[in-house]
Parts: sequence; structure tokens; C-alpha cells
Amino acid sequence: MATPWHSHTESSLAQLQDSLVRSQVRDSVAPFSPLWRRRFSELNRKAASIRTVADLETVPAMGERDVSPTGDPAGMSSLVLQAGEAGYALHAPGPDLRRAIRLRATRNDDYGRVVDADTRATSYVFSGAGFTYPIASTRADLDVITRAGARLWELLGLTANDVLISAIEPAATTEHVALQYAAMGVGAPALFPGAAPADLAGAVRLAPPSVLALPSAWAPQLLDGITDLASVHTALLMGAPSDAERLAAAHALHRAGAASDVAILAVHAPAGARLLWGECRASGGTTGLHTYPDLEVVQVVDPDTGDHTTGAGELVITQLGLRGSALLRWRTADVITAIATGPCPSCRRMVPRVEGLRRKALVSDIGGHPVDLRTISSALAGRTDVDDWRIVVGHRRRDGASRVTVHLLDDGTDESAAVIGAATEIRTVAGTLPTQIVLDQNEFAEVYGERLSRRILIDS
Ligand SMILES: [Zn+2]
Repeated sequence: MATPWHSHTESSLAQLQDSLVRSQVRDSVAPFSPLWRRRFSELNRKAASIRTVADLETVPAMGERDVSPTGDPAGMSSLVLQAGEAGYALHAPGPDLRRAIRLRATRNDDYGRVVDADTRATSYVFSGAGFTYPIASTRADLDVITRAGARLWELLGLTANDVLISAIEPAATTEHVALQYAAMGVGAPALFPGAAPADLAGAVRLAPPSVLALPSAWAPQLLDGITDLASVHTALLMGAPSDAERLAAAHALHRAGAASDVAILAVHAPAGARLLWGECRASGGTTGLHTYPDLEVVQVVDPDTGDHTTGAGELVITQLGLRGSALLRWRTADVITAIATGPCPSCRRMVPRVEGLRRKALVSDIGGHPVDLRTISSALAGRTDVDDWRIVVGHRRRDGASRVTVHLLDDGTDESAAVIGAATEIRTVAGTLPTQIVLDQNEFAEVYGERLSRRILIDS
């Protein structure tokens, strides 16, 4: 019998991931993605040279701005693979292909259905950190999403007897769609009243839930005025919550009548992902988001350069076994403190766990305009009159609006030219100016904050 997804040894897991990376690149990405073919040729690499997880580390990570600098829909749609019947025969896994060929000889319609299930994009979710872009799924991908949903349910300690009420906006997003498939896959009753407080309150009265899914960012506002949550034993905070959001949600749940021992667990899908990660119930949320090692590879890059690194940094994902879109070394704009390997100390599942995740930390918002901090960094890296810089993200005390301050150390020839040049460059690549540009004289001695990268800091 095959080893269950979470019970590998370190070496069998490494072997499995290497072989899945190899076939994903050989049978999905290289033949069906004009985007990645172009990318490989720009990098002067052959797709066939990527045969292992370690080989992936040598591929510069790619993000939404590398697909289309302006995020226009036509450019972003090139993330969807272009598979067809002819390609199917060459790249389908052996058993599927033999079954399909048998059907082609006898029942041509059924053959068409089998090929379509694996090649034709039939549904889309929209994702993204700074831009919005479509992620396509084939019918076979939806099966994968459903299976991953069943795993999530188990990880969260839920069963088919649980009743889910979700206050996630019922839209074409991974958070909603994957949650819906998860509940459907295990056969758990689920209601999706959406994110209006009155609708949520109505749904809670109609079907007392045991599980409540809430958006991390505004869970307390949604629960305001609700008092009858005594039936809830698990709250899912969708979109990895910060410690403050977790605490605020806990208080709000208790005010709303939830039991004092209600389990509060994070559920998260990074930008570009189609699967939801969860925290295991046994850990109570202390051992990180559990990933699916047979369906994805999680790695870390330096947010300033996009190059491979270890420890803290920007999370990148490579999808395995998904066909409609197949993201490779995809930059999520999420920053993490570490990827833990080895068995989870709480549930013993042998899966990589993502720790200390800050969602979309590398994309800030200035006056309603998303600003990608990575592009500011790369714009400054290209200037010869700027010796060094720091980008500090903070919040205005008055109204909580974000502010992005760029501190510059110029090369000493012409201060004002350096500032004007940097401002112009930043506006060109990021589409807007930072809140403030400060010329620093003494090597950033006065710049404080928690590090997201060497040059990007959060002023907390
Ligand atoms: Zn665990």
C-alpha cells in the first residue's frame, strides 16, 4: 500500500518530491506553458535540467510582476497552461493514458471526457497580492482540491458531523472555493451566507454551527451583535491571522457566547495557491501551517533579490500534480520566519510546516493603491547614485492608514538629484510615490523596525 501523505520518512519524502518535481516540469510546465518556456529560455536553462527540489532552488523565483509589470488581464492570463488532446497523449501519467487509449478504441465520447478532465480548464479562482490574476483548474485539479480539503478537515479535527458556517465572501477565491470543496468532499453540511453581519446572524439561528470560518482581518466586526454561538467548538481564521487578530477574535468569540475552550485555528492560502493550509488541532495553533508535500514544494527566497535562502524570507510555492495552472517557484508576497521540517511535535504528521507567516507583507497599500515593496527595492538597486536604502512600512497614528518611508544613503555627489531620481524611478515601477523619502546621513542609525528582509522593515 502506498505511504499516506503525512507518514513518510525524511528520505522517502525527499525521493517522492524529487520525482514529482521532475514529472511536473516535464509533463505540465514545459510542454504546456508558453510563459515558463519563455522564462527558461531567458534563463538559458533547459526545463529537463530541473529534476529535483534542490534544482528548483537554482531557478530565480517569479512573481506577478514578472508575468506582467502592469497586471493587465491579458498578460496575467498567461499563467494558465495551454494543454490539448495532442499533448495529453505525450504527457498523461501511464495508467491514465492506458485507460484513455482503451476508451478511444471503444467509446470515443468517454475518451474525450477523460482527456478533457486532465487538460481543459473548467473553473477559475482569482488570486494575487498586488494584482488580481486567474488560476485555472481542470476537473482533475478539482478532485485534487477536494482531496486536499478532506485532509484539511482531518487536520483541523473535524468530521462529517460538523456543521460549517462560513463568513467568507462567497466569491471565486481559493479561500471560499477550497473551503466549499472541503466540506462537500467530506459530506459536512455547510452554509455560506457571506460576510454581511446580518446574514451571518441569520444563518447561525437557522443552523447552529459547530465550525465558524471568519476572515482574520475583521472577525470581531462580524461577530458584533451575535450572542448565540454556544454550539461553536472550532473557529477557523481564514488568511493567516497575526497574534493581535487571533487575540481579538478570541475575545469576540467569547463575547458572542462561544465556549471558553473553543479551538481557534488558522487556515491560509498564499497568493497563487489553490489549496488551504491549516494548523493541526493537536497543536492548538502553535506548530505552524501544515503543507501538503505531495502536492506542493514550499521554499524561501530573499525578498530583496528573489534568490534562494534558508530561514526567514519570502515564501515561494511550486505546485505539484496540478494542471490548469501550474505555478513554479511562485512568489507569494507572504513573509515567514521559517519552514519547519520533520514530524510535527503535536500531531506527528511528517509535513513541512510554515511558521510565523505574515500575509501579503511585501505589498503595502498607499491611499488605496497596492504598492509592491519588492519593486521599490529593485528600482533602487538599479541606481548608481544610491548607495543603500531601507524601506519602512508603518501606520499613521491618526487613522491607521499605511505609510511607506524610503530612507536613502546617496553616493555624495548630488543629494537632491539622488532623491528626485529615486522618486521618479519608484513611481515608474510601483505606479505611485512612497509616503516619504528621507535622505539619511548616518547609515540608518535612526531606522527601527522588525525586519522583513535586509532592507524592508515593519515599524510596529
Ligand atoms: Zn501538527
